[in-house]
Order: sequence, then C-alpha cells, then structure tokens
Amino acid sequence: MIRKAGALLLGCLCLVLNSRGQGRIQSKEYPAGAFQYPLDLPPSTAGSFGELRPNHFHSGLDFRTNQRTGYPVHAAMYGYVSRLRVQVGGFGNAVYLTHPNGYTTVYAHLDHLLPELAAAVRNYQYQHQSFEVDFKLQPFQFPVTKGQTIAWSGNTGASGGPHLHFEIRDSLTEETINPQLFGLTIPDQVPPSISSIAVYHLNGHPFSETTPRQFMAVTGAAGNYRLSNPQTLSLSGDIGFGITAIDMNSTSANRNGIYSLELKLDGRTVYTFDVERFAFDQTHAINAYIDYPQFVLARRWIQKCFILPGSQITLYPQSENRGIISFKDTLLHDVEYLLKDAAGNTSSLKLKVQSGIQKDRPVVNTTGTLFRYNQRNEFNNGPVKMVIPAGNLYDDLDFKYSLLPQKVGAYSATHRIHNRLTPIHDHYDLWIKPDASIGQLANKAVIVNAVSGSVGGIYQDGYIKARPATFGDFFIRIDTVAPVITPLNIHDGSNMAGIRSINLKVSDNLSGIKSCRATIDGQWVLLQQDYRTRILKFIFDDTIKPGKHTLEVTATDQKDNITHYKADFNR
Ligand SMILES: [Zn+2]
Repeated sequence: MIRKAGALLLGCLCLVLNSRGQGRIQSKEYPAGAFQYPLDLPPSTAGSFGELRPNHFHSGLDFRTNQRTGYPVHAAMYGYVSRLRVQVGGFGNAVYLTHPNGYTTVYAHLDHLLPELAAAVRNYQYQHQSFEVDFKLQPFQFPVTKGQTIAWSGNTGASGGPHLHFEIRDSLTEETINPQLFGLTIPDQVPPSISSIAVYHLNGHPFSETTPRQFMAVTGAAGNYRLSNPQTLSLSGDIGFGITAIDMNSTSANRNGIYSLELKLDGRTVYTFDVERFAFDQTHAINAYIDYPQFVLARRWIQKCFILPGSQITLYPQSENRGIISFKDTLLHDVEYLLKDAAGNTSSLKLKVQSGIQKDRPVVNTTGTLFRYNQRNEFNNGPVKMVIPAGNLYDDLDFKYSLLPQKVGAYSATHRIHNRLTPIHDHYDLWIKPDASIGQLANKAVIVNAVSGSVGGIYQDGYIKARPATFGDFFIRIDTVAPVITPLNIHDGSNMAGIRSINLKVSDNLSGIKSCRATIDGQWVLLQQDYRTRILKFIFDDTIKPGKHTLEVTATDQKDNITHYKADFNR
C-alpha cells in the first residue's frame, strides 16, 4: 500500500532531473525563479534544509557569510514585512516577508535591521517593556521591492557562528519548504557519503532501546558503496534498516544533510524519505526518525529506514508496511539504498540478504504497562500520577515505573518515569506528591529532571504538577533562593561618562529567571540580551542626559523570589 503522508495527499511523486540525468523526488513543483538569493555572496551553505539537529529538523538553508557579520540581506521577492521578531535564543533578530505568490520568506540571526524596521522593533519593545518581541505588521506598513536591503547578516540568537538562516514557508499553513526546490541551487557535484548501516530485528515488537541491532561498516566513494564485510547478510523475520550518511557540496567542507533516501527490495521501493516540506509542530518527530537511544547514549545519527506508527511528519512520501521488511522465505534478496542530495547527485549501497525461515519468535518479557501510541495513556500509583495525551507516543510502549532513593535536599523520592531513551512528541502531565515536611513551602516547589534540571511546577491538590517533554528521573526540590544580579561595569557612585553601555549578568540557582526589568530614574529601559555571553546591556542613548542618575534592576525567578539592585551613577 502507498502510505499517504499527513495532509500532503500525494497523487504521485515527480522526478526532477539534473544535468547528468539524475532525478530528485518531490511531491509537487515549486515556482523556480520567483525568488532571488538573499545575499550578494556566491551561494554556499553551512546547513541544509531538513538536516538533522538535536530535537528538530533544520527548517531552512544556512548561507555562509565568510565567518563575518554585516553583509546586506535582500528581499528574495517583492512583498511586505509581515512579522518582526526578537528572541534571546532561537532566531535572534528575524524578519518575515510575505509575498503575493503565497509564500513567506524568513531571514534570521540578523545583526541589525533597516533603520525604519529597527525603530518599529524598538517602539514595540518600549511599549511592551520586553526585549523579546514578536509582532505582525499590516501590508501597507513596510512594502518591499525584490532585492531591497532589509537587514544585515549577523550571529544573533542560538547561532553557532555568523551566517544567514533563510526559509521559504507556505503563507497559509506555515509549513516550511526546502528553498532548493525553488531553484535556489547550490553548486554541487558531490554525492552523499555513507559510513555505516544498521539492522533492527523488530519481529512485531515496538521499536525501543532493547530492539536487537547490528551495525555494519560501509566502504566506497563517489556514489558507490558496499558493506565492508560480509557482502551477504543472513536475516529472518521483520527487519528494519538504518543508515548513517552525510552530504557535502562543491562550495565548502561543511557536512550537511541528505535530501532523500529510498530503500528498495528486489528493485521495488519499500520506503522513501525526503526533506521537501514539514510543519513546525511535527519537527520533534526527528526523534522518531533517528535511532533515538543511540543518539542519547552515543550521539550517533542513525537514520532509520522504517516509520514509527505514531510519527505524523510529512517526510515519508511512500512506504510499504512502514518500511519494515519480512524475510520469511529461503531466497537471496537484493537490498539497495539510494541517497540523493537536493541537486540530484546519487549514492547507492547494494547488499544481498539470504533470507531464512525464522525459528520461534523471541519471547520478550513485557513487565510494565502497555501504552498504546494512538491512545491517551495514564499511570497512577499514589505518589506519582501521569497523563500522556493521545498522539504523543511514536510507538507502543511497555511503560515501566520504578522508585529510586531520595536525594539529599529533595522533597520527594526520585521517580523513574520509564527511561530517557524513549522520545515523546510533546509535553505530558506529571504529578508528584511532596513529603509532608514541605509544609508552607509547596508554593516554592519545582519538579527536577535529574539530567536537565527544573521542569517547573505548581502546587495542585496535594501534588506538584509539571509538564515535562521527556521521560527520565524526577523529584521535587524547592527554590527559595533569589536570583543573583552581577554588575559588570557599574557600582554605586560610578562615573559612566564616555561608557557605551551598562553591563550586567543575572542568574538563578534552580527554577530559572522569569523576568528582569531595569529602570533609569524610574523609567523602564531596554536590556539587550546576548544568548552566548548571557550579558544584559543597556546601551546609552540621548534620553540619558549628562548628570546624576539612578539605575534599578529587579530580577524575579519562576518561584517569585526577587532580587533588587540599585546604583547611582554620573553621566
Ligand atoms: Zn539555520
């Protein structure tokens, strides 16, 4: 059967040919030539669309900018500025343009914007007394022409170095689409390279960290790969395959992601993956695509060539039995992986499988509670309650709970909620009963994940409730310690004449900073925040006249512990 992928409802897959006659699969054609490159630099990428990233598929193309900031960024097509956004992490400074052809382009990690746009952002920040802002604009406010400079490239937000993150989205659905399908090609004669494959013995059981797996090294180059040893695998029963591969292009030494992956059995396609388009609310399904236990334990990026039943992301245009192959005869079979980049360069890996009749199906002890991926699942043992909404598991789960010893300073035992090797798509509700000794401090309690820290918490009917997005070990702690404000270049009585900015750091021990506000002479002022250095800056402007002034900073954590800092200074 052909699996209809999400809302895409594919009639067929088209094949787009490159100059060497190699094809690229996609479900529909996109207007080529409508958009221009957003930079004047020769196009070169530091990251490809759909590339594998922790917890998400990369949602755009990362254009390289010579390790520098400050290159003009141009509107890829005429239209209007429809949204402006400032984030501490994430996209940093971002501009969204909406175009009359039904698409929206996004430009992120910008250093600074066109002065009129920068003024609009600053007004909004002062009006809403917030550094982080995200607002929409009307079509008549800032129309743009094709090629017009709208901003300068930067390194703001969660960016690993100067570059321009560029997206093309469907304006209606907000699905993000591979920009390379719009003719924004990158010079590329280099086919994907394959380093290993994986074989998973599924045999009717849900995929998990206990699924028996074999890893095999691969040798080859220039598009032709084979198993290092042996050439023929003996397999029986329900098998899932996996692969480790990257792609490079002709413009840089950056290792990017592949565009598509096809698995064939005896010449018939049984599974296809391609990074054509996806919705942002599905991007966590990367954890269903990769071998998540291997990623958590060993940081290995193995791309599974079978689909978990609960994954809803639209990256699997076709498959047969979710890509799972049943070897139940005694014949010799041909298995082939076909990997392509967006330019159509193709690599293949061929191997033979000697199929065997499976002996008795291995018995797997199901010692926990069976959670169905397509149902709402609940667990309640008194001290711990949890509810996982339907659609949040990628596969059925033999759910296990265990009680671990109480940690020093904790207000509950440590509760092991299944394990951290099983991904879930979104948040679930978790309640933990605190010790009676918590008394009046229940309103200062948070649930802590033993690996990643506080997941927040509120008091509710004798429990502390939080909404974690991972399984793992959880316990209760209390946060009665207020944030710490560290002035970096100011003290009471400072002379700040000729100094560009007031610099501070603010940190919290447990629950995290909820808000940090600064005033000068009682008037709210903007603190610019830097994701990497964690430094907060007030940049002096002409509203601060020469003379004596008072800076006041108030930092509040998630449990409403408050710290004030005050300094008089001269300017
Ligand atoms: Zn990016």
